[in-house]
Amino acid sequence: MIGWPIPPPRIPRKTKEVLALERRQKVDWLVRNGFLKSDRLKEAMLKVPREEFVPYEYRDYTYLEVPLPLPGLNATISCPHSYPLFYEALQLRGGDRFLEVGSGSGYSAALAREVVGDEGLVVTIEIDEDTYRFAKDNLSRLGYYDVVVILGDGSKGYAPLAPYAKIAVTATCPSIPQPLIEQLADGGRLIAPVGPPDDVQKLMLLSKDGGKLKMESVEEVLYVPLRGEYGWIKTTF
Ligand code: SAH
Repeated sequence: MIGWPIPPPRIPRKTKEVLALERRQKVDWLVRNGFLKSDRLKEAMLKVPREEFVPYEYRDYTYLEVPLPLPGLNATISCPHSYPLFYEALQLRGGDRFLEVGSGSGYSAALAREVVGDEGLVVTIEIDEDTYRFAKDNLSRLGYYDVVVILGDGSKGYAPLAPYAKIAVTATCPSIPQPLIEQLADGGRLIAPVGPPDDVQKLMLLSKDGGKLKMESVEEVLYVPLRGEYGWIKTTF
């Protein structure tokens, strides 16, 4: 069994100012290490206070390169470099209609909303009720009222608002779920970890052009399992 080391929960000691400084340092680090390239995503990562999406007892660890536990079964806020890893590969842009499977804390949806802007749309779907509530509360507390947060099985996508220009799955899949491929617009891109939950997985980037599908492997990653009909754990919703 492999996994990430999770730091011990503790009462937060860092001030808002310290966390804001750590945010700027993290963004510089992401740029220097080649993860973060586009100006819009850089602005988004500077703007969105990630600490507001982290549970109280883990808040001091907000800018460490580790995923942190969230309310709900298996939910985590992914480590900071994973967002540019996903969004740069997806080429997330202003005006995009974007679907995220696995809302977690809502942080990834807030970043996406900053990138797609007023002309775009962010739809995020979460299967765990406690995690869903956490994401929804965080997003509305921070003013992201127009992010559509759905409680449901995202392995089936979310057909009512399809097609999507970009889709990100933030839990590892047995293979890329067919409904997501169908809900991807022509010219669109989808990113998803594919592989077993207890081993390293391949982050796969799929593009659809003229109805033709192309797949490439971007990186090795470690994500929690996708649940639901097309997931590893066949919970019915
Ligand atoms: N996007 C967040 C969360 C990653 S954790 C981030 O990157 O920080 C993955 C999340 O996917 C968990 O909250 C888990 O509950 C959720 N999940 C797992 N299977 C799902 C499914 N079928 N539909 C929607 N959410 C799912």
